[in-house]
Amino acid sequence: MAESFQESTMKHQESINPATGKVEHRVPLLDAAAVEARLRAAAGAFPAWSSRRLEERGAVLRKVAGELRSRREDLAQLMTAEMGKLRREALAEIDKCATVCDHYAAHAAGYLQSEDIATEAQRSYVRYEPLGCVLAVMPWNFPYWQVFRFLAPALMAGNVALLKHASNVPRCADAIGELLQAAGAPEGVLGVLHIDNEQAAQVLRDDRVVAVTLTGSERAGRSIAANAGEQIKKCVMELGGSDAFIVLEDADLDSTVDAAVRSRFDNSGQTCIAAKRFIVVDAIADAFVERFVAAASKRVYGDPTREETTLAPLARADLRDELHKQVQASIERGAKPLLGCEPVAGSHAGYAASILDNVGPGMPAYDEELFGPVAAIIRVRDEAEAVRVANDTRYGLGGSVWTADAQRGEAVACQLQCGAAFVNAVVKSDVRLPFGGVKRSGYGRELGVHGIREFTNIKTVYVA
Ligand code: NAP
Repeated sequence: MAESFQESTMKHQESINPATGKVEHRVPLLDAAAVEARLRAAAGAFPAWSSRRLEERGAVLRKVAGELRSRREDLAQLMTAEMGKLRREALAEIDKCATVCDHYAAHAAGYLQSEDIATEAQRSYVRYEPLGCVLAVMPWNFPYWQVFRFLAPALMAGNVALLKHASNVPRCADAIGELLQAAGAPEGVLGVLHIDNEQAAQVLRDDRVVAVTLTGSERAGRSIAANAGEQIKKCVMELGGSDAFIVLEDADLDSTVDAAVRSRFDNSGQTCIAAKRFIVVDAIADAFVERFVAAASKRVYGDPTREETTLAPLARADLRDELHKQVQASIERGAKPLLGCEPVAGSHAGYAASILDNVGPGMPAYDEELFGPVAAIIRVRDEAEAVRVANDTRYGLGGSVWTADAQRGEAVACQLQCGAAFVNAVVKSDVRLPFGGVKRSGYGRELGVHGIREFTNIKTVYVA
């Protein structure tokens, strides 16, 4: 049943440039009537959108990809202004969004093909049918990619969507709405909601919304999953991580250190699948640490729009302050600071490239997610202890193993309790492969064939 929507007490969302601290834009929050209008538009759009042929929906997605490519400079600039991402990383993110649109336009027919299953019936098979209107609650760290990796498969499967983006990236949210419009998506296929979390909770309770996907923190996950549970609505949870990066004694140091630096410091460490805990076997630990510190110290903080900058600010000053508290608490409990471990002096939201050694249980750097440019080094005796420590976390998103022996690496990878285990490669998302976590990192999968089926009714048809 439709609820009457409350007015929000917070009147606008602010777009603050993390490099300068300047408020660049204010976007008013939607009032109750505007939220109702978007819900009505989404519900109204679903029947026609879901009955379009796949090729027609694919044509819209391909146009979205074209729009992303032709506007990439502007879209990237907006992202840098709102959440501080380095310009080259922002451009790469836009390109990846175009790829995921093209991928599902090309492969949805195969992924959603009905499957015959032999039984005693004349014919029995499985069909993948769209569910309806899906609410997407999204984070700021990859403000376009996180949205498109949900949106492209969800729309191709015939669903419509409502987007509640993180409150610090309102203009990126609007840009996504404009891309869909420019590509000819019918009104209501994607509704952008500038709303706060209480309003989002109300939207999720509305009967016109059938499911929800969240990419964000454990805290947000707990609240949204509880709400979805109460409503018995399908949900996908893409939450935090504290990925292990296991360095075995036979690892090639040059490539491993290079990968370690990229995996921890790209996007200023604000990546769910960034390597966060570097679990290093004693025999190679001193050599690895020495090179890791030398390489990480070359990351230069600065203006994210400049080519020479290799370490961007964090997305918000409060996040930087929170990170610093976790670092300080780890040091108080015995971690040894080897590099950085402090805010960049004079910056609005900068944090130095940082490395903590001798990290162990009871420290935030071991027990919690550090969402910023801080590497935690945990020294272990051998491979068996490395596996034990890697799994000694409430998270289970990704993990990687570094060794000269790929077979050995694979055996270790198979023992990691996580959604993606990589050998001699930095954990990354790939449109062809399923992505998601176990334990407190969430449940459900995005990308690949598994991702597009998440928001479908996997329906049995049985003809006796
Ligand atoms: P966040 O604070 O949880 O915010 C994510 C989204 O949830 C935002 O739209 C936020 O809205 C909303 N939200 C926050 N609290 C909520 C609540 N109690 N009820 C309903 N909605 C709520 O997370 P973040 O700081 O933006 O993102 C960082 C986290 O996301 C990290 O833990 C990271 O690991 C995780 N992440 C996971 C993945 C993955 O694929 N597994 C990918 C990227 C990031 P407001 O902004 O309006 O508060």
